[in-house]
Amino acid sequence: MAERTEPADWVRCAGCGALVYGKRWTRTLHVCPDCGHHGRLTAPERLDQLLDPGTAESIGPVPALHDPLGFVDSRPYAERLERARADTGLPEAVLCAAGTVEGQPCVAAVMDFRFLGGSLGCAVGALITHAARTSLERRVPLVLVTASGGARMQEGVLSLMQMAKTAQAMAELDEAGVLTVSVITDPTYGGVAASFATLADVILAEPGARMGFAGPRVIEQTTGEKLPEGFQTAEFLLAHGMVDDVVPRVGLRPVLGRLLGLRAVTGPLPPGDGAAILRAADELADHDPWHSVRLARHPERPTTLDYIRRLVDDFQELHGDRLAEDCPAIVAGTGRLAGTPVVLIGHHKGGPDLGERRRRNFGMAQPSGYRKAARLMRLAAKLRIPVVTLIDTPGASPGPEAETGGQAAAIAENLRLMARLPVPIVAVLIGEGGSGGALALAVADRVLVCANGTYSVISPEGCAAILWKDPQAAPAAAASLRLHPGDLLSLGVVDGIVPEPPAGAHQDHAAAADLLEAAVTAALHELIPWDPDRLRAARRARFHRYGTDTGTGAAAADWSQS
Ligand SMILES: [Zn+2]
Repeated sequence: MAERTEPADWVRCAGCGALVYGKRWTRTLHVCPDCGHHGRLTAPERLDQLLDPGTAESIGPVPALHDPLGFVDSRPYAERLERARADTGLPEAVLCAAGTVEGQPCVAAVMDFRFLGGSLGCAVGALITHAARTSLERRVPLVLVTASGGARMQEGVLSLMQMAKTAQAMAELDEAGVLTVSVITDPTYGGVAASFATLADVILAEPGARMGFAGPRVIEQTTGEKLPEGFQTAEFLLAHGMVDDVVPRVGLRPVLGRLLGLRAVTGPLPPGDGAAILRAADELADHDPWHSVRLARHPERPTTLDYIRRLVDDFQELHGDRLAEDCPAIVAGTGRLAGTPVVLIGHHKGGPDLGERRRRNFGMAQPSGYRKAARLMRLAAKLRIPVVTLIDTPGASPGPEAETGGQAAAIAENLRLMARLPVPIVAVLIGEGGSGGALALAVADRVLVCANGTYSVISPEGCAAILWKDPQAAPAAAASLRLHPGDLLSLGVVDGIVPEPPAGAHQDHAAAADLLEAAVTAALHELIPWDPDRLRAARRARFHRYGTDTGTGAAAADWSQS
């Protein structure tokens, strides 16, 4: 449907001023081969790049008021509209089409900045809403590509109302469990940024694209302060937790294809390998608890990202708490585990490199990490796909920053959210399960521990310092705390043990990953056919039991009944 225009012989890059040969410019999707600047696309060009060839089916136009106020400034608004139509060949600032991306069906609504700065007026609101409704009727994801200077002043307060109207349309898709993805292009400001652009489940941004409510000029004029370099750019937004990822144009279709392909799996599924999970402590090699503590902390032990790289197909990491920052100590995203779509969330300690371990805060999350996890769990609930968590943390973060950010409330919120989540949750303690920081990802239907993992209310050193008044008493504290997998199993705190290679997971990552995959798959296949009521009731009963009965083997008993 997009009109193909012959590329001009030479195109000047708006980023570095270099001249690029027209055909090359087309081939690079209007991205400068010299500086990487992403040139602005028209809506037809964007649809042409985005959708699989030959799949675009035009949807719209829809009825809307075009000059509701009879507005006149130095020229009548009606004339400006006519001019924009003539200049762009488009009826309005957004173009909608149904089609496929990498074979995955979707509805796309694409904005065109040339049309009165992509401003949000009644017709744009109507078209975005129409695209959302079409997506709802067809039960296929909605993809929004935004570019806008803000509200369309010439339509007065009715343009403001389009923010609410489009937000409602997004809410309907949330209620119906239909995925929404927005792609932020430069620039996206005002009413578009403060409605559908940021209400999408996943927000991707092109490199360098700026997004915000107030534009930098307005802020500088108001405050009289110079803004920092890169303010409101995609990279700034990623660091501040506002977008899920920055995706270069050339990589956009594969990323969208992965996301659009996320679909709920319903059972029954083939039973997993029953032997993949050890359910009796005597099946475990006998280690003393302090030995387990040391192996659980081994710097070469496989990390969450090691397991993801080996086990998860089409992993798409998603970032940010949409509030303040992206916590590097928690990794989260979507993908397929042994063919099953999952949301995967895990603490990430950073592996053997000390610099990387520091950058990841040794797997101790900030409140933004728990909030990112919560956001992804809500996405899993919306899409009806299971959650798998990999737990590996010394504990919550003992610093002023975490306290200022509301660490206690962030952990508490996750406990409540997980208690009510309508999808299966499988948690695996792959290394250290330290205190509230671990539990914030572990209110699950099945809790497993790797053969050399631990789970404890406090680190043995911390316990020794407080109760023994002697940090050297840590091995004794480890024994008393009963944090060893065999003890955890008999306390009923875990349902089973994931075997490790004989010398420990750090000696053979590939074998450890295979063992983990078999165990998680067995647990998932059992739980996926369960409906939300059954899942929540069983989860509630599980955690209700702790401390009110003898506890011995409580969780394991439940397992055998299912
Ligand atoms: Zn350039």
